[in-house]
Amino acid sequence: MILKKRTACPLCHSENVKPFKKGTFDPEKINSSDFKITDSNYGSMWTFFSCKKCGFVFANPYVPEEKIIEFYSQLEDYEYSSEAEGRAKNFKTILKRLNKIEKPGNTLLDVGAASGIFLDLCQKEGYESSGIEPSRFLVDEAERLYGLKLFQGTIDDFKPQKKFAVITLLDIIEHLTDPGKFMTKILPMLEDKGVLIFVTPDINSFAARFAGKRWWHYRTAHVNFFNLKSITYLLEKHNCKIIKRKRYAWNFSLYYLLTRIFPSFKKKKPGTLQKIIKSINLKLQLFDSWEIYAEKK
Ligand SMILES: [Zn+2]
Repeated sequence: MILKKRTACPLCHSENVKPFKKGTFDPEKINSSDFKITDSNYGSMWTFFSCKKCGFVFANPYVPEEKIIEFYSQLEDYEYSSEAEGRAKNFKTILKRLNKIEKPGNTLLDVGAASGIFLDLCQKEGYESSGIEPSRFLVDEAERLYGLKLFQGTIDDFKPQKKFAVITLLDIIEHLTDPGKFMTKILPMLEDKGVLIFVTPDINSFAARFAGKRWWHYRTAHVNFFNLKSITYLLEKHNCKIIKRKRYAWNFSLYYLLTRIFPSFKKKKPGTLQKIIKSINLKLQLFDSWEIYAEKK
């Protein structure tokens, strides 16, 4: 594996960067399965540096983007769709908020659409929606579960005929080695006055500071972290302004929570107890993720 090193912040290019957290795994040994959305190997973290100027936290050394894309295209995540109900609840809240915002049309692009849970809801709400997803497995899941035809690939291969009124990045930017570069690719696809929505963990949150290395957002797939300062910096630099910001609440089943805490629970034979536990839904507000609505100026 070719690891690269940084001497400056990838977001604002300041050289005033300091070690932030020491990594807990050998980056040479990572593979595609470490990048699963449902990965329960929490506390598996990169060595992170933080930027004193903009507050951005980034993996250093890091895996080049081409390699990460390769991991995602090979990704198979059989567990993801089993929590569709909880995920749909998270997304319904976003849609409700989006519906209240003035926008230049009803076209919507979801980047990193996974198995299409969000896009399915968007279609039902009357949005003319498209999705991009690198994983062949998840693209097939979206077709199987919702009849959706996602574009399989990355933003670099995607050449839309029209601009979109809304672009959504739900838990995406913390997976990218260079979110700034990504924005320069995504924003030309957004109409003027169009709405950009993203959800990302907040490294400055109480939960992040309190849990330390045990914070559940520390996982191999998360190669950077934002706080409100770095989010604002990123958006302003790309000619966007925040119009609404909310704390993202997580909905999932008790089963999902238990299998995160006790991975061995998954290996138990499915029985009545598991069925009951799967049917109990929880809503957790940890105030440790931002849900940002921004407008392109
Ligand atoms: Zn910076």
